[in-house]
Amino acid sequence: MAKIAFIGLGHMGGGMAPNLAKAGHEVRAFDLSEDALAQAVERGCTRAGSTDVAVKGADAVVTMLPAGKHVAEVYRTHIFAHAPKSAILIDCSTIDVATARSLEEKAAAAGFTMVDAPVSGGIAAAEGGTLTFMVGGSQEGFEKARPILENMGKAVIHAGGAGSGQAAKICNNMLLGATMVATCETFTLAQKLGLDPQTFYDIASKASGQSWSMTTYCPVPGVGPETPADRNYEGGFAAALMLKDLKLAAEAAKEAGAYTPMGGEAEELFQRFVDRGGGSKDFSGIIKMIDDSWIPPEDQ
Ligand code: NAD
Repeated sequence: MAKIAFIGLGHMGGGMAPNLAKAGHEVRAFDLSEDALAQAVERGCTRAGSTDVAVKGADAVVTMLPAGKHVAEVYRTHIFAHAPKSAILIDCSTIDVATARSLEEKAAAAGFTMVDAPVSGGIAAAEGGTLTFMVGGSQEGFEKARPILENMGKAVIHAGGAGSGQAAKICNNMLLGATMVATCETFTLAQKLGLDPQTFYDIASKASGQSWSMTTYCPVPGVGPETPADRNYEGGFAAALMLKDLKLAAEAAKEAGAYTPMGGEAEELFQRFVDRGGGSKDFSGIIKMIDDSWIPPEDQ
């Protein structure tokens, strides 16, 4: 069993690290938040006093931090200076492609093997060990990271070279954000045209308008399988995180010279929703901004 340093024990890392401990690994955990660290220790991880201490002598280092600036700081100041060169370095945070690529270059120049491995799936998937990991990096890095990631997920997919995991994640989420907005405005129009939402769902889910946003994650309360729409848009994937990913996609599109007008429109709409206080709601709650007539069942 491996000695694994785990840095960042928030909503996601706090569920992931205990799954590594459950699998029999020695998990040396660290977080700036004492509460987060105490909870991880209660759930089978070992307390480390700092990132420097956690990574010393580790076989693997996993990071799950808020954004690119935190990841860059933790790797540049702590991990590259204190982890053994033999350790596989795995960043599971969602960050910008450029920072991921530059960190992986820096790691390689210093003799480390590093991969980016952002996740699809929210807090429940982190808890349940059912995340999907999109891995960017060398084949060797992927092979080293895979057995560790398999303890925390249901699928581990090699997306390509350095930064490709982040690229896959933001492209997927840009598509998700845009299809969710399209689903919300379509159901609003259908209702205003006199169509029953359930009837329209039954038709469109078997016709060419079908998408995951509609069939599996319908934003209309009481239609389709149970979703956050049936819980007043609580839980699920926070609109603030969708906005974060749409901003990362816009940044990457600008750098790559790609024209992404639908992604840009979705970003603008989610920005408005977050500015109006919707940031902690599930992202499908944006239907309430598009048309306030979608009343959650308990308020009817
Ligand atoms: P979070 O804010 O709950 O947790 C981040 C943790 O990192 C916090 O506990 C914080 O104290 C800690 N931290 C920050 N700087 C640190 C440092 N220098 N050293 C040690 N610890 C430090 O965030 P989260 O919801 O767990 O998300 C983590 C990452 O996963 C983000 O990049 C996010 O975009 C991505 N993600 C989140 C979800 C989700 O549903 N929450 C889903 C998919 C991906």
